[in-house]
Amino acid sequence: MSEIRCPACGTRNRIPTGARGRPRCARCKTDLPWIVEAGDADFDTAVAGSTPAVVDLWAPWCGPCRMIAPALEELARERAGRLKVVKVNVDESPGVSRRFAVQSIPLLLLVRDGEVIDRQVGAAPKAAIEAWIDRALEAA
Ligand SMILES: [Zn+2]
Repeated sequence: MSEIRCPACGTRNRIPTGARGRPRCARCKTDLPWIVEAGDADFDTAVAGSTPAVVDLWAPWCGPCRMIAPALEELARERAGRLKVVKVNVDESPGVSRRFAVQSIPLLLLVRDGEVIDRQVGAAPKAAIEAWIDRALEAA
């Protein structure tokens, strides 16, 4: 479960990590920014579904990871209902790290229907991340 605060009315909504469809605020029905935390046990559940997901592979000691976190949160707000952000702490998720051969972080994976469409290594400004997502989704 992840707790997501409604940007419209402030209600705290508890959303299952693998929720299908678009999460909406239980009180006012506004689309919620969709940011969940996942690890080895629930990664596949988190990225299943046709809503594109940006997986942020990060670690607490990684400075550039902290730099891109606000950009990803903004994107999740701006694209509420159309984009899911899945945060994976690689220190706590050795299985996911091995699976995607993570060598350097931050590593962003763009996933749709459980398939990795594209990946991007390193920090980038929000506009660049946004352009990358749009380009990759269009090409896929
Ligand atoms: Zn609300």
